[in-house]
Amino acid sequence: AKAAGRNTQRFFDPDMQAAVNARSNLEADLRQGLARNELLVHYQPVVDHQARLVGAEALVRWRHPQRGMISPGDFIPLAEQTGLILPLGQTVLETACRQLQRWGQDAATAHLSISVNVSARQFRQPGFVAEVLDTLKAHRAEPQRLKLELTESLLLGDIEDTIVRMEQLKAQGVGFALDDFGTGYSSLSYLKRLPLDQIKIDQSFVRDVLSDPNDAAIVRTILALAKSLDLQVVAEGVETTGQLGFLRLHGCEGFQGYLFGRPVPVEELDAMLDPTR
Ligand code: C2E
Ligand code: CA
Ligand code: CA
Ligand code: CA
Repeated sequence: AKAAGRNTQRFFDPDMQAAVNARSNLEADLRQGLARNELLVHYQPVVDHQARLVGAEALVRWRHPQRGMISPGDFIPLAEQTGLILPLGQTVLETACRQLQRWGQDAATAHLSISVNVSARQFRQPGFVAEVLDTLKAHRAEPQRLKLELTESLLLGDIEDTIVRMEQLKAQGVGFALDDFGTGYSSLSYLKRLPLDQIKIDQSFVRDVLSDPNDAAIVRTILALAKSLDLQVVAEGVETTGQLGFLRLHGCEGFQGYLFGRPVPVEELDAMLDPTR
């Protein structure tokens, strides 16, 4: 069998074999990385219309022992395929709840909320609602300060089930944002049925909002829609004062992007909040 295996190897495209090996190495590494606490959370500021900090988005990072810092785009898809997104998502949620509890102790930071990304697989898991509520409780974090970010792909699944889960969490105070809005397939009737608090305008529309009339029209439409549905809006990927000016002019009141701050370790965010500490 060994010889046959060696023979078939010859018919393999070596590049393809390398890709397969790289993938399975990465999977093994990720499994190990989770066990060894190599996954950490950075926080990106979210600000209001007066540029005051109102919260932060939790964004996972992987400090790989050999490869250094790996961004989520390079391992979240793999984590979703392999199911490792479940322990990973739970780690991020725990970290966020611990941080909410800390901020809750100080009057200067008690109003801040944390947004956590939830993948479809995580959300559909049978025990998801209980897990979120248990985690909040275990860390004595206020449910009102937690926002869960869902993507439109989630709406392709069982809509009734989605609504039930959201309502159960909402009843305890947990908020919901629809992430990357405009890039997916969500129909407007769904948007109306879901108990959402916020939509996030995808950065792909914000990027060229000043130069591309189509993007400008899309952004204006999303802002008008959000207003009529009474939803908060956060524009993502705001990098310039020009983009900010356009967004504000059309009624946007929440912003996130490099103009206000990159994702950073929590110590850096705390230092920005109180430089004397
Ligand atoms: P996302 O949820 O849309 O997060 C926003 C992404 O935009 C982040 O990339 C952030 O660093 C980046 N960003 C923020 N402001 C700017 C800006 O002004 N300009 C530009 N060019 N980019 C900006 P990041 O951290 O690499 O995360 C990528 C994606 O990975 C996230 O997109 C999210 O879909 C996923 N992700 C991150 N953390 C988690 C997690 O804990 N769980 C799950 N399920 N997904 C996660
Ligand atoms: Ca997000
Ligand atoms: Ca987003
Ligand atoms: Ca995105």
